[in-house]
This record gives sequence, C-alpha cells and structure tokens, in this order.
Amino acid sequence: MPLADESLFSWVDHLAYTYSIDRPTMMRVLGLPVKNVHAFKLSQLTARLTPSEARQLEAATGLPQDELSLLTVDGVADNNYDRDRGTDTAKEAWAFCPKCLTPAGRWPLWWYESWAVLCPIHQTYLVSYCPDCESPFRPADLRGDTPGMCSGFLGHPYDGQPGPSGRRPKRKRCNRPMWEINTTPVADPSLFEIHHRLQYFMTRGNRQQRHSPSQWLCDFHTVRRLVSRWTTVRSFSSPDPTLQARFSGKPDWESGWSQSSSGFLEPIKLVSLGGFRTGYMRRDPITEACEISAVGQIVLSRDMETSAHSTLTIRHPVELAKFKEGFRIFYPIAASPALDGILNDLLGEQGFTALTEHRVKALRRSRQRSADKQG
Ligand SMILES: [Zn+2]
Ligand SMILES: [Zn+2]
Repeated sequence: MPLADESLFSWVDHLAYTYSIDRPTMMRVLGLPVKNVHAFKLSQLTARLTPSEARQLEAATGLPQDELSLLTVDGVADNNYDRDRGTDTAKEAWAFCPKCLTPAGRWPLWWYESWAVLCPIHQTYLVSYCPDCESPFRPADLRGDTPGMCSGFLGHPYDGQPGPSGRRPKRKRCNRPMWEINTTPVADPSLFEIHHRLQYFMTRGNRQQRHSPSQWLCDFHTVRRLVSRWTTVRSFSSPDPTLQARFSGKPDWESGWSQSSSGFLEPIKLVSLGGFRTGYMRRDPITEACEISAVGQIVLSRDMETSAHSTLTIRHPVELAKFKEGFRIFYPIAASPALDGILNDLLGEQGFTALTEHRVKALRRSRQRSADKQG
C-alpha cells in the first residue's frame, strides 16, 4: 500500500525494490504504459494520471481511483505546481531530504511544493542540489537501477578535447549516494507548525480545499505572496541561528551571496562565461525557510494586523491585476479581515475596493451553490 503523502513515483520504485524487479517491468505489471525513458514517464504520471491510466492502475492494484489520485500532483489541492517542465534552470529544481532517499526509502508528494523546506522525520532542511556535481534534484532523473545515487554528471559539458569523430569523451556519472549529503538541522519551531498544517491540508483537504480553502490557508498564501514578491522583511527574529544569519548577514557577490527582494541572503552560483564572471540563482530551501518563518511571524500571531505592519515594508504599490498573476487559487479573496490593512496599503484604495467587489461576488456565488445543493 502507498503511504499517506507518498508520490506515485516513490511507490512504484518501492514496489520494484521490494520485488527485486526493474522499474519498467514494475510499471508494466501495474498496467502503466512505458517506453524507453521510464523515469520521465513515471514523473509525468506522478504529475497527472489520465482517466485510462487511472483505470488501468485501479484494475492492477485494486485501489480506488480517488485514492490513486492522491499520489499525483494533480490530485492534491495546493498551489504552484508548474515545475515539471524538464528544464533545470534556477528554481525548477525540487527540494529533497537526502536521508529519505536511502535505498528502500520512500518520498512524499509534497517535495514538489514550493513550500517544501524541511523534513519532519529527520528534522533537517531539505537540499536541492548535489554538492559534488551541482546537479539539481529532479525525480525525472532518478535512475531505477541505482536507487538513491545522484544521476548527475561530473565536469562541465564542454570539458575534454573532441575526438576524431568530433565528439567529446563521455562524462562520468556522479553516483554519489544522496543519503550521505550533509544537511542542516531545523531549530525554528514555527516552521514545523506551518509544515504540519500545509501537509495536513494537502493530504486531507484536497479537492474540497480547491473550492473552499480554509481561512488559515488563505492567510498563509496571501502573506507568503506579499513576502516573496512585494515587501521587504524589516524585523525578523527566528530562534534558529541558521535563519537569523541569513537576515543579519551582508551580501557579498565575491563569496557567492546575494540578497533576495525580501531581504534574506541567498546563495548564487558564480560561473565564467567567455571571460565574464556571472552568477545565477538557485533554488535554496534555507532562503525559502527564512521567508516562510517571516510569514509565520504574521499568520501564527494573535494579532495579525499589528504583526503584518511591524514585520513588512511594502516596496511599492501593486495593481490588483498584477497581484492576481500566478495564483492558481486566488487566496486573498478569502483572507482574514486582519490582513485588510496591509492589502489596502499594497493595492491602494481603488485596488482594494476592486478586491472587495471580487469578494462580494465570490460570497454570492458560494451562497448560490449551497442554496442549489439544498434545493
Ligand atoms: Zn527525511
Ligand atoms: Zn552529484
């Protein structure tokens, strides 16, 4: 049986490991179509099962389709799943817990979420890159024949002299056991609290959350958007020295530290391109954890209104249309009145009035829906 939270990818690999057969064979046993690039296919299936794939899997496993959909990203309610595009630029890497990838280990669907920053089992921050070969972690690259090993390549693609055929020598795979990658312990209790709640909504609220998300979830996502896009954190106090150092430290390009718009240090990767040194951002679960902890200062406080104003500085006003961009569910529509003050400051009077009109319409629609149900 799949574990609560488990991803389809993890479950299929777990079954293959248990029965000592390879991944493509396991997929065929489960009635899942597979061609040569099975990791990519399995990654796609984990994103979404088509009705016919879901029927086949139901027939092979005896598990009802509703339960099977909980193994896929499409079947759970939370936001921002648009990272499975097969590229490895900056933030498209996923975060993962190295220890959970010990062979026979199983991994959860919420690793795909942008709020995935810690592992509640091992109580450490997640990582998103292999420290040896610097490859980003992506399930579509996980190899079935070497479970838990890094599938990245060592060296630069342009290393080595091309041979007579014009081809460069094949690069060696990194093959580092991922479960041995060092991690940093989490010492901020608010992060565990937030993680616990988000995980709860993801596994239980599901489809219902999509239509009437809970108040806390709306507040969390509204404030998170404020922190990640439109405001700078002005006061931050985390009991975790790792996070606090990211707030009080100074950015230093030379040593690879830049500052995010919210005000936390984030690592940059420096590379030389034709004599120029340039840097690019990478997904960093610890920077993300700083932002989530700052969100927690507000949404876990008793007086959200006061803490929002003392924690955040709005950088510049934002139009409502811009503010709405990128929300899969427009959470601010059901945010608490305690956040009205800061939303009013962000959107300006006109924008805030427009938001209120949206809210009134949404309320009317939901009343209509429940009246229809009763009638
Ligand atoms: Zn773990
Ligand atoms: Zn590696």
